[in-house]
Amino acid sequence: MFDVAIVGFGPTGAVAAGLLGLQGIRTLVCDELTEVYDKPRAIALDHEIMRVFQQLGIADAMAPFTEPFTNSEFYGVDGQLIKCMSTVAPPYPMAFNPSMVFTQPAMESVLRQRVSGMPSVQVNLGQKVTALVQDDTQVRLSLEDAHGQTSQATARYVLACDGASSSVRKQLGIGLQDLEFDEPWLVVDVLVHEKGLRKLPQVSVQYCEPQRPCTYLIGPRNHRRWEIAINPGEDPRTMATPEATWKLLSRWLQPDEAQLWRQASYQFHALVAKEWRQQRVFIAGDAAHQQPPFLGQGMCQGIRDVANLCWKLVAVIQQRASDALLDTYGAERQAHVKELTSRIKAIGQLVGQRDLSKARERDARLLAECGGQVQPMPRQNVQPALVGGCLDSSGHAAVGTLFPQAWIETGDGPVRMDELLGCGWRLLLHTGAGPSFEQAAQSARPCLALRVQSLGDPAFQESSGVLAQWFDRMGCQAALVRPDHYVYGAFRSAPDLRAALSALQP
Ligand SMILES: Cc1cc2nc3c(=O)[nH]c(=O)nc-3n(C[C@H](O)[C@H](O)[C@H](O)COP(=O)(O)OP(=O)(O)OC[C@H]3O[C@@H](n4cnc5c(N)ncnc54)[C@H](O)[C@@H]3O)c2cc1C
Repeated sequence: MFDVAIVGFGPTGAVAAGLLGLQGIRTLVCDELTEVYDKPRAIALDHEIMRVFQQLGIADAMAPFTEPFTNSEFYGVDGQLIKCMSTVAPPYPMAFNPSMVFTQPAMESVLRQRVSGMPSVQVNLGQKVTALVQDDTQVRLSLEDAHGQTSQATARYVLACDGASSSVRKQLGIGLQDLEFDEPWLVVDVLVHEKGLRKLPQVSVQYCEPQRPCTYLIGPRNHRRWEIAINPGEDPRTMATPEATWKLLSRWLQPDEAQLWRQASYQFHALVAKEWRQQRVFIAGDAAHQQPPFLGQGMCQGIRDVANLCWKLVAVIQQRASDALLDTYGAERQAHVKELTSRIKAIGQLVGQRDLSKARERDARLLAECGGQVQPMPRQNVQPALVGGCLDSSGHAAVGTLFPQAWIETGDGPVRMDELLGCGWRLLLHTGAGPSFEQAAQSARPCLALRVQSLGDPAFQESSGVLAQWFDRMGCQAALVRPDHYVYGAFRSAPDLRAALSALQP
């Protein structure tokens, strides 16, 4: 019997398999297809995801397929700049460029290769999960290959990472809550020749034009993407033909200046699963939520799901936590997805305003808000914090946010913090935190395998002040950080820390 079976080897399932494999969890991952989908869907990712790739040991292998995300400039009805989204300036809070573009098929291949080499992970490609039945101790999966050959597998837990049309979600009868966004858009990926590249905008652009809203994105190398609204009365299938697509692109490019890589019509919508767990089965990734791609967050959300769930599953499987910890997965992730989706929708509605007078009002309002001088806003500022779930209830502003990662100076040069401290429970202490904080942590050390690190330690010197600035900004002396890098609690006094640690231990 496997500890965990994962249905679907897309980015969500592959990251889940990798995180479980790192901990030696006996894992089965199966996918009905044998190859990585060869066209890009996701094009943007952020530093939180790069930190997960770092944990999997593939951040460097991803480097050839990623590039910094350019600013996104929003242009209004009269072609004036009305808004700008940027990346935060260095020093970067997670020790990675905060906002990247990437090539999805290449990235998925790197992920698959990494996971396939893990001794505790079995990868079954070309096997479709057709049904599952669960009882109090296990889940039995029915599998079928392309020749109709059937087999069975059992696992203590199942992760359904089987994409937007998830058959597991349907089999469990889990409904989707409609967060009310429903628009047809054409997505066009283009490989642009040298001549064409010179003509194109040098930053990403949101054309907030009521007659046809459109997004232009600068991908890696010569990859450029347009997301173009389909107007009422237009047939999405006809719009996705090469002829119709080139007609739409003619504002920017001619057919001899680029090669169409892929064009497809999508119904952009915003949906979230009403339940994320049924006994031993969890859903994650597109199976649990879908959102319009205006902030490039769909795949990122799926990776956040499994980064949240996997450390909890490992703790329960290794009998270091009770089953109740697994309920915090859905509580935390559903609320986060809903909040982020509402922020993504707001951007979509801003770009996609179809009423001319309302669009003019939008332009005037945005310009008035910034005093006529548009200030770039970092994309990462739209990320909400986790709430509820496995978090300290103090209400401190840091709780549920991502703890930063600094570069630490070593004899061999600068090294990212997680390489030194690992990805378990960590207690970071500010330079001024006295010995009482270390004493408060003693009892939790064995149970949580807690790693305690003081910024005052001469062997732990950061190069850029990211951690010290974080503590100063948050006004605390100690930060208790979960294995997924989210802050469990932030403390000003040792007794507060002691109380939080004793509440956390089973
Ligand atoms: C136009 C567009 C633009 C996007 N842009 C971005 C972006 O910039 N950034 C971003 O983060 N996200 C973006 N996304 C979203 C992103 O592409 C998806 O969220 C992500 O690919 C979903 O990953 P997943 O692993 O959850 O699902 P999928 O990639 O759909 O993988 C599911 C896997 O499950 C397998 N499967 C299904 N059923 C079964 C079964 N019964 N048995 C076995 N295997 C099964 C499938 O074969 C598939 O391999 C975009 C999406 C679109 C459409």
